[in-house]
Amino acid sequence: MANSGQKVVLITGCSSGIGLRIAVTLAKDEKKRYHVIATMRDLKKKDKLVEAAGDAYGKTLVLLPLDVCSDESVKQCVNNVKDRHIDILINNAGVGLLGPVESISIEEMKRVFETNFFGAVRMIKEVMPDMKKRRSGHIIVMSSVMGLQGVVFNDVYTASKFAMEGFCESMAVQLLKFNIRLSMIEPGPVHTEFETKMMEDVAKMEYPGVDAETVRYFKDVYLPSSVDIFEAMGQSPDDIAKCTKKVIE
Ligand code: NDP
Repeated sequence: MANSGQKVVLITGCSSGIGLRIAVTLAKDEKKRYHVIATMRDLKKKDKLVEAAGDAYGKTLVLLPLDVCSDESVKQCVNNVKDRHIDILINNAGVGLLGPVESISIEEMKRVFETNFFGAVRMIKEVMPDMKKRRSGHIIVMSSVMGLQGVVFNDVYTASKFAMEGFCESMAVQLLKFNIRLSMIEPGPVHTEFETKMMEDVAKMEYPGVDAETVRYFKDVYLPSSVDIFEAMGQSPDDIAKCTKKVIE
C-alpha cells in the first residue's frame, strides 16, 4: 500500500520494454516518492519485471493484471486500487503494425486501434472521474514521433497515434480546469521487443494483389533502411523511462 506522501502511479504494458523500465525506474526512486502499480495482461510474463525491480518488488512496486482491450479488465484493475486513488496514469501499452495496406486485414487494423487508441481512452475514462473529484492527477500517453509525422508503410500505426494525439490535445483543455495534467511522450525508435514483434509479423506477411513495385519497395528498400535507422538512432528504454520521470517530477 502507498505511504502518505507517495504518488500512486499506474502503468500499462509492463511485461517488457519501455513500460517495464518506467515501472522499475519509478519504483527505485531514491526518495521513494512513488508507489508503482505495474500492470500487464499476462502475469506469467512477470519474471523480467520482478527481477529488474529487485528489493522494490512488493514494496514500492506491486503487480496487477490488466488487458487494456477489455472493459471488464480495466474496471477490475482500477477497482483493485485502494480508493481508486491513482495520481499518475501512464498509458504505455501499445502494438505496432507494418506493411503495405493491401496486405493488412481490417481485423488487424482494428486490433491496433483497439490497443493504441481505445485501450488508452478506456483507461482515461476509468480514472478521470476520481481524478476530477480530487481535482488533481496526471495522465501520460506514450505516443510516438509517428503521432506527429506520417511514415511510409506504418500507415495504420501512425493513424492510431495521430488519433491519440488529437484526443489528448482536445481533452487536455477540459482536464486543466480540474488541475489534471495530460502529457504526451513522443519517442523515436527505441530498442525493445516492439520492432522484433513487428518483424516477426512481417516475415509471415503475404502479398496477394499487391503490385510488384510496392512489394519490392517494401522488402528491398524500406525494410533494410528501417533496420539501419533503428540501429543508428535507437534509444534505450531507460532513456525513455528517465524522460518520463522528468515529465512527472
Ligand atoms: P514492447 O512490445 O516491448 O511493449 C509493449 C507492451 O504493451 C507489452 O508489455 C505488451 O504486453 C503491452 N500490451 C500490448 N497489448 C496490450 C493489451 N491489450 N493490454 C495490456 N498490455 C498490452 O514495446 P515498447 O516498450 O517499445 O512499446 C511501449 C509503447 O511505446 C507503445 O505504446 C509504443 O507504441 C510506444 N513507442 C515505441 C517505440 C519503439 O520504437 N519501441 C517508439 C515510439 C513509441 P504483452 O507482453 O502481453 O504483449
